[in-house]
Amino acid sequence: MIKVKDRKLLLLPGDGIGPEVVREVRKIIEWFNKNKSLDFKIEEGLVGGASYDKHKTPITDEVFYKALESEAVILGAVGGPKYDNLEFSKRPERALLKLRKELKLFANLRPAICFKQLVDASSLKPEIISGLDIMIVRELTGGIYFGEPRGIEPIENNERKGINTHTYTTNEIQRVARVAFDLAKKRKNKVTSCEKSNVMEAGILWREEVQSLKDKEYKKIELEHMLADNCAMQLLRNPKQFDVIVTDNLFGDILSDEAAMLTGSLGLLPSASLGARDKNGKTRSMYEPVHGSAPDIAGKNIANPIATILSLSMALKYSLDLDKEAEQIDKAVQSVLDDGLRTKDIMSKNMKEVSTSDMGDAIISKLK
Ligand code: NAD
Repeated sequence: MIKVKDRKLLLLPGDGIGPEVVREVRKIIEWFNKNKSLDFKIEEGLVGGASYDKHKTPITDEVFYKALESEAVILGAVGGPKYDNLEFSKRPERALLKLRKELKLFANLRPAICFKQLVDASSLKPEIISGLDIMIVRELTGGIYFGEPRGIEPIENNERKGINTHTYTTNEIQRVARVAFDLAKKRKNKVTSCEKSNVMEAGILWREEVQSLKDKEYKKIELEHMLADNCAMQLLRNPKQFDVIVTDNLFGDILSDEAAMLTGSLGLLPSASLGARDKNGKTRSMYEPVHGSAPDIAGKNIANPIATILSLSMALKYSLDLDKEAEQIDKAVQSVLDDGLRTKDIMSKNMKEVSTSDMGDAIISKLK
């Protein structure tokens, strides 16, 4: 059980629409403090381009240490055209990679749920998508995005060679598979593990290690192995066959975006990144919407805050043992959608278009 004194939340709004959507999250946390005496301690910091503008670095040590000390980090989004030409180490997304790496956030959880009220927003037929509820667990700190050697080097004939290395160890595979199996226990008891064991040795190892963990510790869970390219097809053909999908960093990046788009709008999709438990039993974690900083709509008060609000709900559930309050938020979101309120991105006929802040206020009114 998380002690009340440990309910420290760090808000990192970031760039573009980040500050607009995180503002709505802050309002909800303050509502809980006032009405439910939950006593969250909220801190805020600059990250990404906003941090670069002020400190010439995408994340300062001060903010980084605040992240280490907090129970959960809730991030808006980083990046934007203004920062596209910065040197690699100064780019906004380096802050995310640093946080993921240093907080040892090795498991990224992305639910893809199709809200019944928004079934028409999907490009798939309603019967294929209606009632969809899958969870993608992506390994986040290993694989080809971090493997060494890496770089671009000159070769003969005035040509260049780009190098990235895809590596995984037993421990890296089994700890993320364990997260997937534990989640499946609370859901429909099924895990699909995806790799490319037909063409990659690291894929063969992935398959063997996931299977061996299941055989040892999770005998009652149904485990299916699937090649990642087939999984990409199956997600479009029959997504409801899946419960929990576990996969590596690269395939997870792509498959989770694909699954996200099945549900129609980026503005609705939260995510959680979880770290290992330390010796004091503390798990570090970061929660963020799946979408980016949406520079095309930034500053207009039209962004959809629901993905970030549902990220807060995941934080309450996975980091703060506050399942009841998480459910209260989820229900408030459903209820607002039932009432026909829509931000511009999910607007449809006969619905009422509302701004970012109106959507936040409407969700708060349902908490009451
Ligand atoms: P994006 O997710 O920011 O936007 C894609 C499209 O979806 C845009 O048309 C945008 O207006 C819309 N959209 C996104 N979120 C929305 C919301 N909450 N409400 C309404 N509409 C929304 O992706 P992009 O355009 O590819 O990237 C823009 C910037 O964001 C880039 O700099 C990119 O690097 C960065 N990015 C950051 C993250 C992150 O911080 N985790 C993730 C992805 C992209």
